[in-house]
Formats: sequence, C-alpha cells, structure tokens
Amino acid sequence: MRWTDTHCHLNHPDLYAEWQAALFRAQQSGVRRLVVVGYDLGSSQRAVHLTEASDALYATVGIHPHDAAQCDNNALRQLRELAQRPRVVAIGEIGLDFYRDLSPRAAQYEAFHAQMRLAAELALPVVIHCRDAYDELLQVLAEYPAVRGVLHCFSGDAEQAQRGLELGYYLGIGGVVTFKSAEALRSIVRSVPRNRLLLETDAPYLAPHPYRGKRNEPAYLPLIAQQVATLWDISLDALSEQTERNAEALLFTPHETPEKIARP
Ligand SMILES: [Zn+2]
Ligand SMILES: [Zn+2]
Repeated sequence: MRWTDTHCHLNHPDLYAEWQAALFRAQQSGVRRLVVVGYDLGSSQRAVHLTEASDALYATVGIHPHDAAQCDNNALRQLRELAQRPRVVAIGEIGLDFYRDLSPRAAQYEAFHAQMRLAAELALPVVIHCRDAYDELLQVLAEYPAVRGVLHCFSGDAEQAQRGLELGYYLGIGGVVTFKSAEALRSIVRSVPRNRLLLETDAPYLAPHPYRGKRNEPAYLPLIAQQVATLWDISLDALSEQTERNAEALLFTPHETPEKIARP
C-alpha cells in the first residue's frame, strides 16, 4: 500500500535531528511521499533543504498565523524565492488562528492576504491552518477564486466544511479523526466527496490513537487511513488508491501558468 503524508513537520526541532530515522520508519509503513510543511522562515528553509536530501520529500513554504508579525517585505521576498525551488508544492501553512491569538488579528490578516496573493501569482496551492476562525477564513478564501488548497487538520463544522468544498478546497484529515471525542468530525468525513480528502499526520503534533499525547510521526499515517477506510466502508487498498489520486491532483500536478490566473 502506498501513502502520502500531505502535512508533517520533519523540519520541527522535535523531529529534525532524526529526520532520516523518521523517514525510514514512514517508508516501512508504506508512506512513500512526505510533504514537509513550513511554518516560519527558518522552518521553510529547512523544509526546502530536506527536499534536496531525499526524493521522498516535498516542501511547502509559508508563515503561520502565530508568526504573522515576521511576515514583512523581506520575509515575503525570501518566501517567493524559496517557493520557486523545484520540489516546493504549495504555500503554507498560512491562515488565521483566533484560538491561541499569538499574533494580533490585524497582523494575521495582513500576512494571510500577502501569502494568498503570492500563491495566486505563482499558481501554487495553499495549505491552510485555521482555528476558531473558519467564518472569517472562508471570506478571505472567497476573495481568491483562482487559488485552491487544503484546510489542514479540519476542525470546523459541517456547514463550514461544505463552504470550503464549494470553494474548491480539500479537507486535510489527521489523528484527531481517531479520537473518541471526534464524532462530529467523523460524521463530516463520512459524507465528504471521496475526491476531496487528504491524509496527513501533522507530526510531531496530534498523534492518532493509541499514541495520543505522544510525539507523532509520519509512520503513524496508516492508523489514520484505517479510520477513514472504516468510515467510508472501503478497503485500505481502495482508500490508498483514492487518496493518492487526491494528493496527486492538488499537490503533484503542474498548475496553470501564472499568466492564466485571474488576479483577485
Ligand atoms: Zn496547523
Ligand atoms: Zn502543521
């Protein structure tokens, strides 16, 4: 069986020192491609650096809402350069986080818009992080109709999921779907269109059951896949085929050239 972990942080201090061992364990469990997601300038640089060390690795570059204050013109210039490296597949993770509010909301909006514009210009998809701000977030996404992406670690309600899907976004589903308390998310997953779900670990965060609370790693992706296959009532083989196709469509297929993208 083959899998893609569409969202992990081998570039995070908790995994970076032993990324080769973590990658090896992931490959042993069938995870053949890993997207290493940036969350600030340094982690974006590390993500791109990792892609030069292994053919299994792809990168995204972006500044997380927690670090929105870092997103000045100089940072944007560096992100633009990094984003054009050959194995960079998306801009992210970017978005709004009104749960932890680690950055002032005005700064979060500014960084989010600037990076959505960058994605539109470069014709790259986006990896979206959002907590307690889905209504505000969906309004911003609607302003960039040419941009597609994934609502990573989706935690909104059914109606917000529907609106995201209508805007052309995928739902990123990770370890939370295995938690006992996640019945609402499981019911969203049951009814999501089969071609709009991506599997992710978000390692080192959010380890699936029975590792909840421990350090997560990409090797646990099949535990998440098993839960989704059960919810969809299909075999793991069929799920692998479907989710590989989905990852291919959003992240690994060349996108329209920038000239064809309508500017918002
Ligand atoms: Zn996130
Ligand atoms: Zn993440």
